[in-house]
Amino acid sequence: MTSTDEKALKAMKILIVDDSEDFRLLLEKMLSHAGYNTLIFTESALEAFDILGLYNKKSSQRIDIDLILMDKIMPNIDGIEAFSRIKAKQVFNDIPIIMVTVATEIASLKKAFEAGAHDYITKPPNEIELLARIRAALKLKKEVDHRKANSEELKIVGMELKAANDKLKCISMTDGLTGIANRRSFDADLTKAWGAAMREKRTLSIILIDIDNFKLFNDTYGHLAGDDCLKDVAQALNKFVRRNGDTAARYGGEEFAIVLNETGLGGATTVAESIRKAIEGLEIPHSTSTTNKYVTISLGVSSVIPTNNSLPESLLKVSDQMLYKAKKNGRNRVEASQEAAGKDLDQPATKIKINDQ
Ligand code: GH3
Ligand code: MG
Ligand code: MG
Repeated sequence: MTSTDEKALKAMKILIVDDSEDFRLLLEKMLSHAGYNTLIFTESALEAFDILGLYNKKSSQRIDIDLILMDKIMPNIDGIEAFSRIKAKQVFNDIPIIMVTVATEIASLKKAFEAGAHDYITKPPNEIELLARIRAALKLKKEVDHRKANSEELKIVGMELKAANDKLKCISMTDGLTGIANRRSFDADLTKAWGAAMREKRTLSIILIDIDNFKLFNDTYGHLAGDDCLKDVAQALNKFVRRNGDTAARYGGEEFAIVLNETGLGGATTVAESIRKAIEGLEIPHSTSTTNKYVTISLGVSSVIPTNNSLPESLLKVSDQMLYKAKKNGRNRVEASQEAAGKDLDQPATKIKINDQ
C-alpha cells in the first residue's frame, strides 16, 4: 500500500454506535492512536439512523459512512435490530458492519451474520485484533467503492458513446441544408421499402421533383435566398410523408425524391399534384421564372409491384423520364408513367438528362 492509499484509508469514516461511554472513549483512544481521523460516535441506534439519513434525509444530507461498529446490547433498539433496519435499505448494502459484543453473546449474533454482518469483535477489545479487523473491513469497502466507480464510469462512457453514434448516424442520414433525409438515407429507405413491397406484393411509387428555373432564381435573388427557398420547399415536401416508411429526401441540388409505400400510380399522381399545388401555394416570388410568378416544381411519378426481375434503380429511371417529360411539356406539372408496372424494369438504367438548359 502506498502512503497515499494509507492516508485515504485512515480518512475513511467510521461510525461507532455504543451506549457505553467508557467503550466509546476507549475506542476513540485506540483508533485515534492508530491514525484514524474521521470517527463519529453515537450512543443509540436512533442517533445512528439520523446520521446515516436512514429515514428522512435526502441523499445530499447524508454522511457517507465507510464502516459501522455496532454494539449488540443497547437500550430501546438493540444492535441486531438496528443492523437489520440499516441493511434493509439497499443504499447501505456496501457499508461493512462489525458487531461488537461480549464474549458470552457471540452465539446470538447468528441472525446478524445471516443478514450479512461483516465481522464481530468482543468486549473488551484486544487492540491488535480490533485494528486488524477494522483495517480489513475498510480495505474491502475501498475496493468495492473503486469497482463501483469504475463500472459507473464505464456505464457513462457507454452511454456517451451510444449518444455520439446516434448523433453521427443522424447527421450522416440528414441533409445539412434542409434538415430532411439525404440521398444516402433515401437509398436505404427505398431498398427497405422495395424488399417489403416485393414480399407482400404491394405497389410502391416514387415521385422525383425538381425546382423549375432554379438557376434563374439564384441569379435573380442570390445564392442565400436560393438556400432559403430549398429549405422551404423541403419542409413543405416533408409534410406529405407522414406514413411509416414513406420518405421525402433531398436527392441532390434542387431535386427531391419521395417514396410512397402501398400507393399505386393513381394515388401517387394525386399526391404529386397536391405537392405541386402546395409548393406553388408557398408563393415564393420568382420574377424571372418562365412558368409562373412564384417558385414551382416539376414532378415525375412511377409505380410498380417489385419482383425478382426488377430493381429500384429502374423505377427511379422511369420517374426520371417522367420528370424530363414534365420539364419538356412546360414545367410546373406532374407526369406519370402509365406503363411502368408493365415495363421490363430489369433493363440497366441509362443516364437521363433532366434539365434542358
Ligand atoms: P429546370 O427548370 O430545367 O430545372 O432549370 P434549373 O435552372 O432549375 O436547373 P439547372 O440544373 O440549370 O440549375 C440548377 C441550379 O440549382 C443550379 C445550382 O446552382 C442550383 N443549386 C443546386 N444546389 C444548390 C444549393 O444548395 N443552394 C443553392 N442556392 N442553389 C443550388
Ligand atoms: Mg435539376
Ligand atoms: Mg431545376
